[in-house]
Amino acid sequence: MLNKNRLLAPGPTPVPERVRLALAQDMIHHRKPEFKAIMAQVQQRLQKLFGTTQPVLSLACSGTGVMTAAVTNLFSPGEKVLVIEAGKFGERWAEICEASNVAVEKLVFDWGQAATAEAVAKMLDLHPDCKGVLIQLSETSTGVLHPVQEIANVLKDRDILLVVDGISAVSISPCFMDDWNIDCLLTGSQKGLMLPPGLGLIACSDKAWKKAESVTPSCFYFNLRAEKQKILQDQTLFTTPVSLIVGLNESLAMFEETGFDVIFKKQWALTMMARTALTAMGLELFAKDHFTWGLTSVLVPENVDATAVLAYANENFGVILAGGQAHMKGRLVRIGHMGWVDWADLAAGLHAFAEGCKACGGTIESGYLEKGLHAYHSALNVSDK
Ligand SMILES: *Cc1c(COP(=O)(O)O)cnc(C)c1O
Repeated sequence: MLNKNRLLAPGPTPVPERVRLALAQDMIHHRKPEFKAIMAQVQQRLQKLFGTTQPVLSLACSGTGVMTAAVTNLFSPGEKVLVIEAGKFGERWAEICEASNVAVEKLVFDWGQAATAEAVAKMLDLHPDCKGVLIQLSETSTGVLHPVQEIANVLKDRDILLVVDGISAVSISPCFMDDWNIDCLLTGSQKGLMLPPGLGLIACSDKAWKKAESVTPSCFYFNLRAEKQKILQDQTLFTTPVSLIVGLNESLAMFEETGFDVIFKKQWALTMMARTALTAMGLELFAKDHFTWGLTSVLVPENVDATAVLAYANENFGVILAGGQAHMKGRLVRIGHMGWVDWADLAAGLHAFAEGCKACGGTIESGYLEKGLHAYHSALNVSDK
């Protein structure tokens, strides 16, 4: 009773009351008109969210499931793709390809670095047999935002599909599938969309659908071409997670009421707040220039164990933060501020993190919260972000 629990992880994220109430409604049948009407509305709203005129398919799976669906429906065993690897989720693309017998060429960047369009172009010149480029818009393990739009420009005149994992970016920072020439965009329910985990969303360009025609999906469950036929009738191939679709309709309604320009501005302002406050603490940010808008990654002081900081923040303040993954475990803390998170939640997160660092023997400069909040308010008041 002392503290509210505040989930400030880069997924799962808090679910607003409006969405929770929608999730709690009576079960309805997924093949009946009542559900179809909801699905039709969800479809319209999803197209707006993705910035596409293409159908957006919903799959019952986690984010990795929908990544798997992309690989197994767009590429045949033996074909080769270029994977951009700059963190845990880039590595996952490669792992999924390898499990699906799709050959992988890797373009590797250090953790904390963003890919460059020049390096991608160079790799594709060296390996012209690549049929796809697989990348994250936001690499959640490091907090880096990759320059997907610039990379799309590199692919413009090549017969290569651009496949973008937007799981920690869609609804958090601008990402317009059609305008940016993304061939396949996917996301999951538990990050920016303010929903529980369990729903994957994916859309393909005409070019990608054409490519998919030449591929026999290696797994029965993920069949995007068959799903596309179904969604044109406001249906899914198998029993859809009805409650999650009803909840999604509610969260998309909330976005619609607020407007994505305002949502993006809020996300940017929260990012400025976190980056300013953490810098003012005297700490080093992990993603230097190309940073995502839904989480902020920071290196803890040299002598401090990040895992102990997380435990302290949780036990004493009810704040749940995320640590680093793989070799960054113990060194990195990731503060999630995507979806249903506002300035007060983030202020709580920053305070809990700072107190945790101090309790674990680190030095934290004071005055960070005031500077962070100032950055938040100035970012909100600048009209062009
Ligand atoms: C969270 C996340 C995933 C994985 O999602 P799961 O739901 O855990 O399978 C994949 N890619 C990115 C960029 C993510 O942030």
